[in-house]
Amino acid sequence: MANILSNNIFIYSSEFKNYKFSNDHPFDPLRIKLTYELLKSDNCLTTKEIVPPVMATEDDLLLAHRKDYVDFVKKQGPDGNQSPCREANQYGLCTDDTPIFPNMHISSSYVAGSTLLGAKHVLNGTDRHALNLSGGLHHATSGKASGFCVYNDINVAISYIRKHTSYKVLYIDTDAHHGDGVQYQFYDDPAVCTFSIHETGRYLFPGTGSVRERGSGNGYGFCFNLPLDAFTEDDSFKYVLENALYIVADYFKPDIIISQHGADGHFQDHMSHLSLTIESYQFIPKLIHKLSHEYCSGRWVATGGGGYNVFDVVPRVWALIWKEMQNLDFPDLSTPLPVSYLDYIAQTFNHEQFGYWGDDKKNYIHIPRRDEIYDKNKKSLIDSMYAINKGTIGNDFFSNRKL
Ligand SMILES: [Zn+2]
Ligand SMILES: [Zn+2]
Repeated sequence: MANILSNNIFIYSSEFKNYKFSNDHPFDPLRIKLTYELLKSDNCLTTKEIVPPVMATEDDLLLAHRKDYVDFVKKQGPDGNQSPCREANQYGLCTDDTPIFPNMHISSSYVAGSTLLGAKHVLNGTDRHALNLSGGLHHATSGKASGFCVYNDINVAISYIRKHTSYKVLYIDTDAHHGDGVQYQFYDDPAVCTFSIHETGRYLFPGTGSVRERGSGNGYGFCFNLPLDAFTEDDSFKYVLENALYIVADYFKPDIIISQHGADGHFQDHMSHLSLTIESYQFIPKLIHKLSHEYCSGRWVATGGGGYNVFDVVPRVWALIWKEMQNLDFPDLSTPLPVSYLDYIAQTFNHEQFGYWGDDKKNYIHIPRRDEIYDKNKKSLIDSMYAINKGTIGNDFFSNRKL
């Protein structure tokens, strides 16, 4: 897998700090800077790999968004002014989740332009991966903001790939919330296969993402949803994810993978009820990386996503994506985090950070229902693969593959 000619890019500048709704909003761009600082302190990120973000042009945005929506977003905030809420609400803005913030068009365009930049970089060569941690805004739709997402950077990048190549795109979404905005944008397109694993929408935003959402028209059978029970733990998560992705990749044979890496299914993230640990978050990029080389000549663009435990969870989870891309060994989870990073966190933010790559498990509780949850998730796995197996595959089909 290692290829010394590979040329991976980490898209980053301090510009990303401006995609911020307010000081008390849970979506905090500080997590991108913290990930950058952690990787620098760990000596795994050098200036030659860092590429600055670029703004999406209006034409880029119109690949995935309605013109009236882009025009409306553009009008908000350059001079501190904003449209009345009753008008903004039609575009999903001026809500508790997605309020209007200063210069939102500019900072949202940087996010979208950066995932697009990553896609262009990957299209221009083989064995190339790109990481844009500011991206992954998977809830935005063509005419509406939703769930902290203004422009859907993933939809812009996938639409660009569809327009300029004949590549088949596999979208993999491991955020705790359903990747609804991407799913519905490509619902009838058989060349874009969307796969989302998430906490069941029964009690969680956005409420969609059932196994029965399978695409429409020519796109039927190219949309997969794997909803998990609340309190799902690592063993069950890894088992169903690995089986599902191998089955989907074998069936779809993608040419390029775009992945969304929300970190909000971690047990220390209270925006969902999943009980994953850093072990699942080591597993995810390892599996996707492997698939990208097996099926796509390494073409892989990864983005960030949700993740609301800004200090204790997200930087470690996201640093592991870059380490995987670079074929760097995963740290043993008992390895301490770099001292210079811990000092930086303590001195700059007065935050006492648990000092290891692994989790502080003193508050981790295995719940008694874990066997029942394991069985339910396995049933969801079988149901979610229905368009491929037409109900003919039973439990025996699935195996515990070892990465
Ligand atoms: Zn999320
Ligand atoms: Zn690779």
